[in-house]
Amino acid sequence: MAKKIMLSICALATLLCCCLGTRSTGTVDVDMAKVFNYTNVMPVAVIGSGPAGLMAAIYGQRGGKETFIIEGNKPGGLLMDTTEVENWPGEVFVKGPEIIEKLKTQARRHGVRFVEDSIERVDFSQWPFKLYTENGDTIHALSVVVATGASPKKLDVPGASEYWGTGVTSCAVCDAPFFKNQEVVVVGGGDSAIEEAIQLAPYASKITILVRKDQLRAAASMQARLPLYDKITIKYNVEITKVVGDGTKVTAVELLNNKTNERTMFETGGVFLAIGHMPASRVFKGSIDLDDAGYIKVTGRTQQTSVRGVFAAGDVEDHRYRQAGSSAGSGINAGLDAVRFLDDNGYTPQTAVRLKPRLFGSDMAPELTHKSGPEFAKMVESLQDFDALLAGTQGIVVVDFWAETCPSCKQMLPIFHAVAQDFKDKVTFATVDTDKSPQLVDKLFVNKVPCLLVFRDGGLVARYNNAMSRKELASFIERFLDEQEAGEKD
Ligand code: NDP
Repeated sequence: MAKKIMLSICALATLLCCCLGTRSTGTVDVDMAKVFNYTNVMPVAVIGSGPAGLMAAIYGQRGGKETFIIEGNKPGGLLMDTTEVENWPGEVFVKGPEIIEKLKTQARRHGVRFVEDSIERVDFSQWPFKLYTENGDTIHALSVVVATGASPKKLDVPGASEYWGTGVTSCAVCDAPFFKNQEVVVVGGGDSAIEEAIQLAPYASKITILVRKDQLRAAASMQARLPLYDKITIKYNVEITKVVGDGTKVTAVELLNNKTNERTMFETGGVFLAIGHMPASRVFKGSIDLDDAGYIKVTGRTQQTSVRGVFAAGDVEDHRYRQAGSSAGSGINAGLDAVRFLDDNGYTPQTAVRLKPRLFGSDMAPELTHKSGPEFAKMVESLQDFDALLAGTQGIVVVDFWAETCPSCKQMLPIFHAVAQDFKDKVTFATVDTDKSPQLVDKLFVNKVPCLLVFRDGGLVARYNNAMSRKELASFIERFLDEQEAGEKD
């Protein structure tokens, strides 16, 4: 039975919201009968695939609503960069990626569908809500759970962005092997700083944690691990004011002692940032209410945002607890909230049956994928092979350096392969496993992965040190093709 309900953020709610310092965003007209006019429908659309997103999806699907996870550019979220977790419920010790793998398996078992794409833009002003993806799809979502997490903050001092990827990084689990026998610094005093330092210990010769206060903020249990590592020392009351290098790589940082105002130069080959995180809420600005720091506001003891039918969970809305366990918990709540929202608005088992042919990807296999095989990118293992590849190729060669230990590399590799297929007639693609090719790594100064190097007619023309989405990588490559075309015309 079709049921028309006008959901308005009523005067009382508006008043309450104003008192609590939030802003109401308008009304959404929910008419379940209308959904049969749409295609690409997702009854529950979960944006983000960390513990919050995965738990929300499991509860959405278990609640009898077809649930989709749009994985985003960093599938699995921050846990993918975390090695030791000893506070995940029921596990004495577990690795971050293992938690994600188990949750994914559990979600798949329940029938959750995974979409390898990212949301670029949303329109929450009308229902069904519209989600615009990087791959060009428009999704019609009947309910949304935003679980986009947070991303590491970068240091805003001279030299920090110039040497990003050539000494400055925020992922020890990815990049520690490039700092073998080097002295490095870790910046920050929280749990992440300690974790980064411990991840560096098997590789670096000396690790100095630079803390701007006179004490650490990290949990006592994390601090208790430090005495086990002779290589790790802590310097308190210091702030980096400049990152210094020789034009190719980092050689030192300038430190300010904020007690004595003394400035000193501190030699280091690497700067590992662990200075906190920012909520990944940019896409939702203007569509739902955010607080001054960019966290999504939720209402009372629910995960409801300022738009009915849109919920938020995890690090994107939680500025207080920020634990994997609490993210998973808020994800559960958001999944339940989404199910209740649909139930309350006339989504019945009959709706689910009728909607089947209109669901997103109903013309595709259950496991939606944009992956393609590696056949369009040659694996290069030796210096000789690499030199031969460059010597024998006219035009543009793009090389992806990756490592088995690097979670973002593993996310990047299928994207690289897919783009290699898209551009196979115009560009030559190659991949290098850094563990198998130390000579190449040294020769090309690769000390952060994933690392993309672009060569034109045998000469290095660009270096990029972050994971990219499929769209970003495609436009990155198009830039060089345009330059090449312009050069040929001259
Ligand atoms: P936090 O926000 O807890 O800590 C950030 C640290 O960086 C603080 O010491 C802060 O200093 C410092 N800082 C911030 N800006 C600067 C700057 N510009 N220059 C120098 N120092 C700076 O972030 P974390 O990433 O460490 O932790 C986030 C959350 O994730 C926490 O809830 C933590 O418990 C959790 N976590 C849990 C882990 C686990 O259980 N295995 C591992 C890692 C994180 P100040 O103190 O002066 O503000």
